[in-house]
Formats: sequence, structure tokens, C-alpha cells
Amino acid sequence: MAHITSGGLFRENIRRQTELGRKVQPILDRGLLVPDELTVSMVLDRIAQPDARQGFVLDGFPRNVDQARALDEALAREGKSIDKAIYIKVSTDELVRRLAGRWNCPQCGAVYHELSMPPKKSSVCDSCGSALHQREDDRPDVVRTRLEVNLKETKSLLEYYGADGKLAEVNGDMDVKQVKEKLLAAMSRPQKVS
Ligand SMILES: [Zn+2]
Repeated sequence: MAHITSGGLFRENIRRQTELGRKVQPILDRGLLVPDELTVSMVLDRIAQPDARQGFVLDGFPRNVDQARALDEALAREGKSIDKAIYIKVSTDELVRRLAGRWNCPQCGAVYHELSMPPKKSSVCDSCGSALHQREDDRPDVVRTRLEVNLKETKSLLEYYGADGKLAEVNGDMDVKQVKEKLLAAMSRPQKVS
């Protein structure tokens, strides 16, 4: 399955100088929020590519019910729909601990963790060799505030997908290997009998 993040979509469209990329660049440069219809258009573009034919995983998008509705409507126009929404449930203390050790690659978007997933060479991206950096908003006090703000939107999303019967919950407090197994189980769908 193709792994699609909104950050990755923005970077890719800007790099390729697509029409959508030229629209999104000035918005990001000014630190503004990207309008939902622009992000949804990029998602539709992306899932039309060959590597997404077997399916795709949207990571970090939609973030709120407005975005989820916009996405569902756009997909429905193409005769497509989301099969499943997966809620990876992690306690606040564990999230703070994880985010505090997180390092990002500003170039390719790869994410590392100093304890659970360190890069081979300290502070250097395994994939592209760029210098890793730590986000200002991954500091513990900022993380707690961010989580409180996000919780409300997350709860609405859980209700939205729950009402559709599409929600699956995975306990994310476990280690990477266990969470991966649970995720794969949650994503597997029954074989269609033809
Ligand atoms: Zn990188």
C-alpha cells in the first residue's frame, strides 16, 4: 500500500512544481493552514498513481470532521471510499515520552526516535543524509498543550468513523513490533468471493 502523509504530499507537489504545488507553496511559506480542498485534490492525484492501486494509507489526514467529509465526498465522486479508520490509542504520558525523543528529517520527512528507532549515524538521516532536527513543539510542555487541543478533534473523528462502522482501535502503548502486528490485523480485509 502507498503511505501518504499531508506533509509528504505538499513536499512532492512543490518539488515537481505541479499546479497544486504552486498553489500550496505560498500558503506554507506564510505559515498558514492549507485549505481542505487543496489537500483533498492532492490526495486524489496521489491515489490515482500506480503504486496506490492496491490501496493506500493516509497518515495524519483527515485531522477533523470537515476534512473527513470533504475527503469522503471527493472519493465518492470517483466511486471510491475509505475502508477503515484506525485509531492508535496511546496514553498521554507515553506520547510525551515518545515525542520528546523524536527527530525529523526536514528534507525527506523521515522520523526517528533516539530510543526506539535511532538513525544509524547520530543526527543524520539514514535515507537521504540530511541533518535531522527536533521540532520546537515536541518539547514536553508544548506536547501536552498540543494533545489537549487535538483531543477534541480526534474525538469527533472517532464518532464520525464509528458511526460509519469503519473504526478499528489499536493499543499503541505496546512496542513497535506488537503495534505493527495489531495494525496489520486491523487492516486485513476478508477476501472477496467472486
Ligand atoms: Zn531524509
